[in-house]
Amino acid sequence: MQDFVYQSAPMRVVFGAGTLRQLPYELSHLGVTSALVLATPRQKDLVAGIREMIGERFAGVFTGAVMHTPVEVTERAMETVRDMRADGLVAIGGGSTTGLGKAIALRTDLPQIVLPTSYSGSEMTPVVGQTSGGIKTTQSSPKILPETVIYDVDLTMTMPPKLSATSGINAIAHAVEALYARDRNPLISLMAEEGIRALAQALPTICAQPNDKTARTGALYGAWLCGICLGAVGMALHHKLCHALGGLFNLPHAETHTVVLPHALAYNAPAAPDAMAQVAAALGEPDPALGLQDLARKLGSPLSLREIGMPESGIDQAADLAVKNPYWNPRPIERAAIRELIARAWRGDAPRLSCAGAGLATST
Ligand code: NAD
Repeated sequence: MQDFVYQSAPMRVVFGAGTLRQLPYELSHLGVTSALVLATPRQKDLVAGIREMIGERFAGVFTGAVMHTPVEVTERAMETVRDMRADGLVAIGGGSTTGLGKAIALRTDLPQIVLPTSYSGSEMTPVVGQTSGGIKTTQSSPKILPETVIYDVDLTMTMPPKLSATSGINAIAHAVEALYARDRNPLISLMAEEGIRALAQALPTICAQPNDKTARTGALYGAWLCGICLGAVGMALHHKLCHALGGLFNLPHAETHTVVLPHALAYNAPAAPDAMAQVAAALGEPDPALGLQDLARKLGSPLSLREIGMPESGIDQAADLAVKNPYWNPRPIERAAIRELIARAWRGDAPRLSCAGAGLATST
């Protein structure tokens, strides 16, 4: 075992079914008297129930959250924060809504309660990715980490099977990269394996029977664990590629992760054999990269960047951006091999070790 440092996040987590009912208590626990509720346009109906539940602690609502946290949207939400004199934030939704809450907290240090309705895991991290002029940049600060997260399985029951599948694989990606992170540690690796296992078991059932509460509970539990991994250790090539592709072509976040993950894993396989064995064990598949693509296929998820809207002409631009300021990665980043990886992912080919096979030594 390599030497390690482990630091746990100062956060309160409430997990179960019907836990939304605990929101009034959690607001008073944080001393919030005037909460701004955040949501996406699609989930604005959830706000009425919250308004009724928290009564005079309800300051107002902003239902303009969108994917990739554009700074223009955050600036509009900031006007509402000031107008309502909010002293706390309640974000109910997927990673887009959580991202908006985090962007506001970065600017104000207001306390946040997050009620996740997808499996993105954003609620577990002190990181926000904000988009300006087509470029997404991430920032980390203790102000960004939500104070309280209320996981309520009931809020995930409405997640359409297609989104459940891609959001679940997005969560698996956090755990996969945690297993070969430079700063990995045994506790996070345990959570990563358990998170992958829980999601890989639950997702096929959810896609076949979306109302299966046991499977929904397993998936949310897995997503929580994978989110902890994302917040605790560094991410590598896979996350870098997804940020570059998402920002350049405004691709849907979870779908991009779903398509890219098997290819990023195949790229890193020779440099991270222990992590590959752990992913294989958690999936119950001999080849983890093929196993993940098979899981996506079984769930009816997209398998190519082409089908989620990336133009073929963008492959070179994406490769250029992916190799610029790369995150640490177990295998050195080589442009020719990265270009090949992106081209394979664009076509939806089976994941394979990219041919530019030089430089397979572990990077430092
Ligand atoms: P999302 O939040 O945009 O959700 C997709 C759509 O599904 C939205 O319209 C949303 O309202 C809807 N939806 C969500 N949950 C639902 C439910 N239970 N029932 C019905 N509809 C539901 O997508 P996402 O994949 O959850 O999050 C993506 C965003 O999160 C991206 O911007 C990404 O960058 C960010 N993210 C950030 C981090 C981080 O640590 N900073 C981690 C993961 C994701």
